[in-house]
Amino acid sequence: MVSISFSVCCFIFLFIIALFYFSKEKIKNFDNTIFTCILIINLIGVVIDLVGFLSFNYLGIENPLSILIAKLFLVYFMSYAFSLMIYILNLTFLIKGQVKNLLIPFLLFCFLVLLLPIDIYYEGIVAYTYGIGVVMAYLVGFLIIAIMIFCLLKIRKSVQKKKYIPLLVFVFLTLAVVIIQILDPELTLLLFSNSIVTTLMYFTIENPDMRLIEELELAKEQAEKANNAKTDFLSSMSHEIRTPLNAIVGFSQNLYEENIPDSVKEQVKDIISASDSLLEIVNGILDISKIEANKLEIINDEYRFEKIFDDLVSLARVRLGDKDIVLKTYYDDSIPKVLFGDKLRVKQVILNILTNSVKYTNSGFIEFKVNSVIKDDICRLIISVEDSGIGIKKENLNKLFTKFQRFEEKNTTIEGTGLGLAITKRLVDLMGGQIVVQSIYGQGSKFTIALDQKIVANPSSMVLEDAHSTVLTTDTFDISGKKILVVDDNNLNLKVAFKLLEKYQLDIDTATSGLECLDKIKAGNDYDLVLLDDMMPKMTGVETFSELKKIQSYHSPTVILTANAIAGMKEKYLSEGFDDYLVKPIEKNELNRVLKRFIIDKK
Ligand code: ADP
Repeated sequence: MVSISFSVCCFIFLFIIALFYFSKEKIKNFDNTIFTCILIINLIGVVIDLVGFLSFNYLGIENPLSILIAKLFLVYFMSYAFSLMIYILNLTFLIKGQVKNLLIPFLLFCFLVLLLPIDIYYEGIVAYTYGIGVVMAYLVGFLIIAIMIFCLLKIRKSVQKKKYIPLLVFVFLTLAVVIIQILDPELTLLLFSNSIVTTLMYFTIENPDMRLIEELELAKEQAEKANNAKTDFLSSMSHEIRTPLNAIVGFSQNLYEENIPDSVKEQVKDIISASDSLLEIVNGILDISKIEANKLEIINDEYRFEKIFDDLVSLARVRLGDKDIVLKTYYDDSIPKVLFGDKLRVKQVILNILTNSVKYTNSGFIEFKVNSVIKDDICRLIISVEDSGIGIKKENLNKLFTKFQRFEEKNTTIEGTGLGLAITKRLVDLMGGQIVVQSIYGQGSKFTIALDQKIVANPSSMVLEDAHSTVLTTDTFDISGKKILVVDDNNLNLKVAFKLLEKYQLDIDTATSGLECLDKIKAGNDYDLVLLDDMMPKMTGVETFSELKKIQSYHSPTVILTANAIAGMKEKYLSEGFDDYLVKPIEKNELNRVLKRFIIDKK
């Protein structure tokens, strides 16, 4: 009675699982196929058991069907164990094609078990089977279990726990069932234990929903990997492009200042503007790749927001050129003088939306407004840029911040990459702010950014000094006789620097590596200024500088040159002991600032 209750329960349970399993959408793979076999074999086993029980009850214990049922049960036991073995082998080292090699001998064994004679002897209500067929079935069964134990030991570290546990349970349960059966032959628990394993497998590894999720996760992981690889590639390409591009910008700027015919000057101007846009694209790619790799940090410091506002207004005016657009500006005077935030990034996000308004407006107006709401020590800046431009279609509004998305591309010749707003959104998010867009297609758009910045009650003197600093001109001045050393591994960069510096009648010396620089200093050369590139092979600028500092006679002011214009770099270099920091391509007024600081003011 116990046995039939078990079998009926198993049947109901397995039947429900099978219903769920077969009604669900499944991924077609080998594991899945084997599990389908396991489930079907298990169900067949339960049916054989039930038929056996019914025949015992209705036809008597010693009925003509009992031998056939006993043989079928043996084949069931072998098949269940065999399927599980294939499942485990598949996790270990078997390849799909080899299954056939195992299947044929196995079927042969099953056939033999069915053919070979077996006998039954009865003791009360318990029927004992014996004979060569039984011995063979048990031998095959135990061989399979031995193989499984071997495989399980082999894969115990490489296979996930949730896959491993049901298989381990099977081996233990089978061994336990055999022992129980020897101790109490009335208890036939094999089917019950098999059903537990099948159920366990369904709920832990072979549930089609879980499998689908697993596959989806895997696909997502692979897509993310591919995306990262693409971003890495773009980022390293951008680095590579930046050096020659800097040279192009530098040379063209030099050429522009030469005494050249107007027609040539016009072309040089075009080269400068083309390379500037290219540089902007490359920097955009570098920014987005840094953001995506979580390598972009927000570096907060004290700054004057009013200065940023003024700079942005002048930049917007330059970009407007001769477009028939009225630029209206409004600055809320209650904004505290000094705020605490990442001034470079704040400027970058506003510049992006301001530049877009200039790009996508042909006539009318652009209104750049900054309002504020102050609460305790926080100033919420509400920055808005409204234009009467081409506007954005409703269906495009939610795609606006996706990278490389551009609209109306076919109808416009406006240059762009579709990166600006993607970067803007991510930067605003990183700074804990918000950006919203309102737009009516054909009428105009309004971008609003809300940013919380801390108010600095007692600003450091440096920020205030910055407010009163004089504007540097881009004119060169004569500092003839002064000696300068430029260290850069790239000859083109050296040439650009040389061209820039020769206008000051300086005595220019160059070195193409950190070692050469060290040799020159050790040889007794004394310079009024050393410009040291950071990204050099073998010995970086920072490493060279730490060696230079060890030379007692070395006192020249040292300025680091870098193409790495990201926020925070300046502070990093200054903390290394460098006297100042210049970003490549070197801007004229920045160079003037450095030369003034270290040569003129020291005269
Ligand atoms: P880009 O300007 O380089 O194409 P952005 O990411 O800055 O890239 O902008 C994405 C797209 O959003 C633009 O191509 C343009 O179609 C649209 N867009 C952005 N700003 C405006 C605006 N002020 N007016 C109209 N369309 C805009």
